[in-house]
Amino acid sequence: SMASPALLMRVVASAYSVAEKAATIVRNIMAAGDLGIVEKTGANDLQTKADRLVQMSICASLARKFPKVTIIGEEELPTDEVTEELIEDGHCEEILKKTCPSQYTGIKEEELVIWVDPLDGTKEYTEGLLDHVTVLIGIAYGGKAIAGVINQPYYNYEAGADAVLGRTIWGVLGLGAFGFQLTEAPAGKHIIVTTRSHSSTLVNDCISALKPDSVIRVGGAGNKIIQLIEGKASAYVFASPGCKKWDTCAPEAILHAVGGKITDIHGNSFQYNKEVKHMNSAGVLATLRNYDYYASRIPNTVKQSLVP
Ligand code: AMP
Ligand code: MG
Ligand code: MG
Repeated sequence: SMASPALLMRVVASAYSVAEKAATIVRNIMAAGDLGIVEKTGANDLQTKADRLVQMSICASLARKFPKVTIIGEEELPTDEVTEELIEDGHCEEILKKTCPSQYTGIKEEELVIWVDPLDGTKEYTEGLLDHVTVLIGIAYGGKAIAGVINQPYYNYEAGADAVLGRTIWGVLGLGAFGFQLTEAPAGKHIIVTTRSHSSTLVNDCISALKPDSVIRVGGAGNKIIQLIEGKASAYVFASPGCKKWDTCAPEAILHAVGGKITDIHGNSFQYNKEVKHMNSAGVLATLRNYDYYASRIPNTVKQSLVP
């Protein structure tokens, strides 16, 4: 008989369904109209009812199936019992049919760390920029992002009532990434994607130094990685602290699975072991191709302003 699927593939298959349930919660809360907005560190750092309920749903659903996995979510929430209607116990059969890369077949539950951003792009969610929003579930092993799921609850929302709303992108290092059409950015053009709601002089000075042909300002780390893998932008440049490990883990796994690269502004790779500092203090630099072109042009003055 067939061996049962490797733990990693079972986790990814479950995370896929859990992310789809999360997307339904995100859409339902927006449709109901009461976002329950709370300021965390300030007016540009918000939490809504969707951030809260989705995190409860994702963390409780995955913890029930994989009790020994470490799960780290963005939001600080009371540790109340989660209502049964928030639990998702399904999984994606297509993912279970794929072969786990051999280097990951022996992974045990207690060796995995799952980084959860229940709603990435919350500021944009509250402003109605709905296609900027993603749900991020990143899976780390040995301190590295090795698998991830990105759900975009409002993908296609401007395409009309007939279009299928929402999509789920997933990937595993050594296997690839699925749920989208990998596309390269226009050759010879330097199109930079960056923050729209967390800009600063340093963020803008860094972008200017790269002499881009154009700049796309959109919300969400997940959304910006999607811009890279779909050829809309050639580099994601964010010379600022603010972005956290739950913002980069799932995007990193998917970007690396298709041959891209993400680091801080100095070129240091991110670590995702459970003890790591949450803040990506030295910013973000990511590309699908031509990483060295951008990395070699980050000014030293910018680097000196961002301590890892
Ligand atoms: P952005 O590109 O501005 O959407 O940021 C990407 C991710 O990093 C989002 O989850 C933001 O909430 C987070 N982030 C970036 N800068 C800050 C900041 N200054 N304060 C709080 N969160 C931030
Ligand atoms: Mg986020
Ligand atoms: Mg968030």
